[in-house]
Amino acid sequence: MQKSITSFFKKKSDAGDSPSPPKKVPKIEAKAELPDEPIIKSEDGSPTIKAKVEPMSVDSGENTSPLKGVKKEQDSEGKTTDRKVTSIGLNSTSASKEDMENYDPSADSYNPLKNAYWKDKKVTPYLALARTFQVIEETKGRLKMIDTLSNFFSSVMLVSPEDLVPSVYLSINQLAPAYEGLELGVAETTLMKAICKATGRNLAHIKSQTHLIGDLGIVAEQSRVSQRMMFQPAPLNVRDVFRKLREIAKISGQSKMDLVYNMFVACRSSEARFFIRSLIGKLRIGIAEQSLLTALAIGLVKKNHIDDCKASKVQEVYKDEIVETTLLLKTAYSQCPNYDVIIPAILKYDIKELQERCPMHPGMPLRPMLAQPTKGVHEVFERFGGMQITCEWKYDGERAQIHLNEKGEISIFSRNSENNTAKYPDLIARSSGLLKGEVKSYIIDSEIVAWDVERKQILPFQVLSTRKRKNVDIEEIKVQVCVYIFDLLYINGTALVTKNLSERRKLLLEHFQEVEGEWKFATALDTNDIDEVQQFLEESIKGNCEGLMVKTLDEEATYEIAKRSRNWLKLKKDYISNVGDSLDLVVIGGYKGKGRRTGTYGGFLLACYDTENEEYQSICKIGTGFTDEDLQTHSEFLGKHVTPSAKSYYRYDSSLEPDHWFEPVQVWEVKCADLSLSPIHRAAIGIVDGERGISLRFPRFIRIRDDKNSENATDANQVAHMYQSQDQVKNNQKSCTQMDMEDEFY
Ligand code: AMP
Repeated sequence: MQKSITSFFKKKSDAGDSPSPPKKVPKIEAKAELPDEPIIKSEDGSPTIKAKVEPMSVDSGENTSPLKGVKKEQDSEGKTTDRKVTSIGLNSTSASKEDMENYDPSADSYNPLKNAYWKDKKVTPYLALARTFQVIEETKGRLKMIDTLSNFFSSVMLVSPEDLVPSVYLSINQLAPAYEGLELGVAETTLMKAICKATGRNLAHIKSQTHLIGDLGIVAEQSRVSQRMMFQPAPLNVRDVFRKLREIAKISGQSKMDLVYNMFVACRSSEARFFIRSLIGKLRIGIAEQSLLTALAIGLVKKNHIDDCKASKVQEVYKDEIVETTLLLKTAYSQCPNYDVIIPAILKYDIKELQERCPMHPGMPLRPMLAQPTKGVHEVFERFGGMQITCEWKYDGERAQIHLNEKGEISIFSRNSENNTAKYPDLIARSSGLLKGEVKSYIIDSEIVAWDVERKQILPFQVLSTRKRKNVDIEEIKVQVCVYIFDLLYINGTALVTKNLSERRKLLLEHFQEVEGEWKFATALDTNDIDEVQQFLEESIKGNCEGLMVKTLDEEATYEIAKRSRNWLKLKKDYISNVGDSLDLVVIGGYKGKGRRTGTYGGFLLACYDTENEEYQSICKIGTGFTDEDLQTHSEFLGKHVTPSAKSYYRYDSSLEPDHWFEPVQVWEVKCADLSLSPIHRAAIGIVDGERGISLRFPRFIRIRDDKNSENATDANQVAHMYQSQDQVKNNQKSCTQMDMEDEFY
């Protein structure tokens, strides 16, 4: 349900709310002004600003005529249709205004050289990238999105290759490799204030527009489009924007704000939208890592065949080369996830040399192998056919890739390649105990779990999540941890990712040893017997684990994410019917959706029914398991049952206050991973704990229970019973007091 920019604008002008576009660019006043400079009103009352400027070319023509054209669009099935493209309010620019306004990297006739209107200057305009994002945002089919981005990349590769690294980072809204942890961290309200200051709008207006549209980027763009400029700052370019965003990330306070303001003032048309979205951290163009790598690979092939093939034909003519380039690039990237290293290498060397030029090494996280869910033991056997498999307990903690480099430095990375080293000084202090014989460098894959030292057993994930994340002082650590190791990816200068799991495991046992309560190997069972797997699954749950991870041992068992190695399969306890029963819950409140969910509710507040007290007690917020269509249906139905305030018989904490309260008219079937004690929710309060209720962890919507009325919903006693019959709770009655964390999922 993504709204296009065109429809927002149409809506606004229909309502007579959209200020008319500026008729001409006012004269430039070549004087530097600071952010505190007052906003000047032009004759028609629309705000005019002065901005800090660098020398620039002047354009005084009509500057906001919409670009109208017909574009080809491909849907998810690959069908091509014509689409009208409307570009809004392009402002004044340098000599190449025409080309700039018409820049369309999705055009069938796109030529990476001819259409790169910046070829004379060899510096990529930020507007070209913003136009690319804008077109991608309006495109439905993923293939077409990737193709559009690849066109832009091929132009950059040919015309301004220095800009490829910043263009790539900007396209995925990163400032550096993820593991460096450089984040922008500009709060939305702070940005709103900067927008107000730059456009003369008041904060309440910006807030209400953002609430209505669900996107501060669009609001920022609208505000800028309708604004007259006393003079126009120099056009932005990709490398400067990237450099300044990095600067913004590193500074704080007023100078950060000034820089944001100065950049924002220089934005033209859709630049404002994407600049603001970059700062918020949500680009909303739907390009993630894998699509980006594919676009880069296609761009590279297009660049290589610029002389013998039209860009639009490259995908057809050089299909095999694209498949090979993509695989090589993805493989290299999964082992060396750093564009600062990869991009210069693809520009300089033959793609076949990439892996050798960009090797994995300790200190740089690899992309971790992930797992796919299965519905039960039978499905595991169906998916793995006759291959030799191993089952390992699936520990419920935090993924940790632990690296030791030749200098003796240890780094710990999370599942998302964030650097978690500072969180675990205790692990680092005791790391030498793990080694057997001479080990100079390694990368191991493992799960860190909270550990009850006295009772020598695993504690629930919630306990681990109470551990401090930053500046952890080893003396003050309250939650002890044990590391369960399940893989070895690198040892003494040799990468092991191309070896099978059996070999990797053998090396793991050869070079490392267990230390009670500190370092353990994942409990494993190599079996192809279905009953044994079932039994092992039940044991894992009794052992406070989430279930099993099932992996191939010898065939298709390498650790190469991009290659045809088999995914790991997970068998979780909530897939087993007698452990993870569903609940039937009443919908009592709705939270308005943001982003893609704008216009419908994005989440809901659910309650169980307490028959004794005849009240509905909140049990969780839910935002998962819905299709767009579900959300539409629920919003329409529940919208008819809104009540001005909470019913007197609703029991909830004020921090959960939804945007709308509903009459208790509908029951939903909901599944979850666990039930846990909650300081906020009120389900079964007083039954298990005097002060706390019970809440659901990872709730997901299954279906509407039309056959049940609200008073037949799961009752408080049943909730308490479900909570208490969890193996983990039975084993850890004492540690429950620590389960204070609340899960929010949307
Ligand atoms: P999930 O997060 O539910 O997709 O499950 C995959 C996660 O399980 C991995 O990312 C690890 O953090 C965790 N895990 C726990 N035990 C193991 C194991 N023995 N092998 C692989 N992953 C495991």
